[in-house]
Amino acid sequence: MQQEVRFFVVFLQSESISVIDLSTPITYLPGVGPQRAKVLESELGMTTFRDLLYYFPYKHIDRTRLYYVHELTADMPFVQVMGEILSFEEDGHGRKHHLIAHFTDGHGILDLVWFQAGAFKWIKKNYSIGKKYIVFGRPGVFNGRINIPHPDIDPADSLQLGTMGLQPYYNTTDKMKKAGLNSRAMERFTSTLVNKLFSQPCDGEAERFSTSSSLFPETLPASLIQRLSLVPLAQSLHDLHYPPSADALRRATYRQKFEELFFIQLNLLRYTRLRQEQVHGHVFSTVGTYFNDFYANYLPFQLTGAQKRVVREMWNDMKSGKQMNRLLQGDVGSGKTLVALLLMLIALGNGYQACMMAPTEILAEQHLVTCREFLRDMPVRVELLTGNVKGKKKRAPILEGTRTGEVQILIGTHAVLEDTVEFHRLGLVIIDEQHRFGVAQRARLWKKSEVPPHVLVMTATPIPRTLAMTLYGDLDVSVIDELPPGRKPIETRHFWTEKPETLYRGIRTEVQKGRQVYVVYPLIKESEKMDMQDLENGYAQLCEVFPDLRISKVHGQMKPAEKDAEMERFVRGETQILVATTVIEVGVNVPNASVMVIQNAERFGLAQLHQLRGRVGRGAEQSYCILVTKYNLAKETMQRIDIMCDTNDGFEIAEADLKFRGPGDLEGTQQSGVAFDLHIANLARDGQLVQLARDTANQILDEDPDQNLPENSRMWAHLRELNKNSIDWSNIS
Ligand code: ADP
Ligand code: MG
Repeated sequence: MQQEVRFFVVFLQSESISVIDLSTPITYLPGVGPQRAKVLESELGMTTFRDLLYYFPYKHIDRTRLYYVHELTADMPFVQVMGEILSFEEDGHGRKHHLIAHFTDGHGILDLVWFQAGAFKWIKKNYSIGKKYIVFGRPGVFNGRINIPHPDIDPADSLQLGTMGLQPYYNTTDKMKKAGLNSRAMERFTSTLVNKLFSQPCDGEAERFSTSSSLFPETLPASLIQRLSLVPLAQSLHDLHYPPSADALRRATYRQKFEELFFIQLNLLRYTRLRQEQVHGHVFSTVGTYFNDFYANYLPFQLTGAQKRVVREMWNDMKSGKQMNRLLQGDVGSGKTLVALLLMLIALGNGYQACMMAPTEILAEQHLVTCREFLRDMPVRVELLTGNVKGKKKRAPILEGTRTGEVQILIGTHAVLEDTVEFHRLGLVIIDEQHRFGVAQRARLWKKSEVPPHVLVMTATPIPRTLAMTLYGDLDVSVIDELPPGRKPIETRHFWTEKPETLYRGIRTEVQKGRQVYVVYPLIKESEKMDMQDLENGYAQLCEVFPDLRISKVHGQMKPAEKDAEMERFVRGETQILVATTVIEVGVNVPNASVMVIQNAERFGLAQLHQLRGRVGRGAEQSYCILVTKYNLAKETMQRIDIMCDTNDGFEIAEADLKFRGPGDLEGTQQSGVAFDLHIANLARDGQLVQLARDTANQILDEDPDQNLPENSRMWAHLRELNKNSIDWSNIS
């Protein structure tokens, strides 16, 4: 019973006392017919009372205050005014046809304006001239007159402003609006529900929820609530919709955010501790001869201090008897591939195989080339397995070699996860650019051996700390915070599409110095729908402007062999310009390329721009990144471009990116495993709370390692309940 978190609540409004249950289907709520229920389910996944209760408003508007007409300005958010309609007037033709109600409160005149001609009749019939109304909306200015378009209008005697307080506003989708489910409608639903669930507000806060709190089982231990001064669960759920004051809203929000983040951390840390106790790892007791031989004889340069440090950190893990689970963060160009190679050599030196996974074929192939190049004078067999390695003749020997252990390092894409791939003795898995690898895919590696291999996840997309704490909260983190010596910071500049001559001059200058240039386009072919530069046109243009230069072209729709051949020409320096789509985003390494031109830079996210920029600046020369955009950028786009021009620091850019886009949009966030839905917490904005949640969860686990303190029993039960509704965490590294 305890596990089955059911909320029985006295239905106080009905005559006889009935009991309602939060898992009641939403159709039981007055006003929600089968039609609307369908829309709520398809648009929001909302099916029960609980879903509705947890559909929190995105903002509240203070409806306690009345404004005078003469106070109104067009930059005010929402206002309400009390007064009467003087007269109606229709004006304009066609799409500009509109209805105006001239409205006054005795202090000035205001125009109420409607544009839906179909509704004019209804409006004129239902709102009487001379009657007292309260009008609510967002003021604007037209022809020097203040107006409120499409206002909410209520008879003044029907509203009690003092008790209306903060009005909730709910997000709705277009489909919902079409079904009559606007914010107002959602408000009616939550209001009905909240009235059903909670007793009417009493004087004191404590009293208000004294009955309900026993009905909404508290999910957090009492001592925690007290220590952090959190409001009770029941109160927070009520106040998130209908707060009696701004302060109550703030406290309710805080409580709910904390709760969401806390259970994520509790889950992660509980799992991590369990794994540390129970899961054994292969013991790599020596660095071995492969490593030593390579280090002494073939390493072409000195490792940076940061590279040495992270290799040490990881070797410490791998010899400890525990399974390594580490995230290696390092900005583009910081030398992660070499670190990966050194670790793989340690695995080999201990008699194990190693496997390296990349998210794309190009990147996997690039890794193969790099590894073979580094290891060319050593007796190590490195093979590639991707979707491109087709046909029995090519595939069979690789699969066979992997099974017998003759293939010591296998590099590939998702293909290495297929069931046909069997390892002889897999000791280490390295996952590059992990954000594109799902958590579930990571988990599949486990099935490949009895003792799980050590796992290193490498990412060049710097992840802000708070996000990393949540997405990779179960991994230990190593950071390469130093670039190889001699690199000059890339200079980033902003050019206009409308003035290509500057760009052409720049390209010419660099090519004359013997350098190579990338030009990246968002599209391959011209599109009627999108006003963007496309690769085919761009290629033709560049051929015209630079008839004396050789130009390569690479994009995702080319045959792999063709693509490789073009890439190769550029790598060998036979072509000076490489025109490409974002296929070159990750991994491509041509130190002689010193210019990265990005067409329609406004179309790319910050993280992507940073990745692309990381393709240059790999040699000793000064490198440039040119962001080309059209005139007339939106303000936010301009800010993004400015950030790119101002900083090369990937972490700074990632923080900014998170703020602009919100974590929900981050590529792969979903599958990377925020275990439980976040209804209200925002990983971008609630960083400090993430930290508090993590510290608190750690403390609880210290105090109650066996999960048997009575005062925590509700909390553990709640965690189990959450887990039931989410992915199977136990399979995930
Ligand atoms: P990342 O994968 O972190 O973006 P790479 O591993 O591709 O970076 O390394 C970028 C370039 O720097 C490669 O050409 C690599 O050979 C070179 N490099 C790596 N480590 C060093 C070092 N310690 N000193 C000089 N060059 C290095
Ligand atoms: Mg790399």
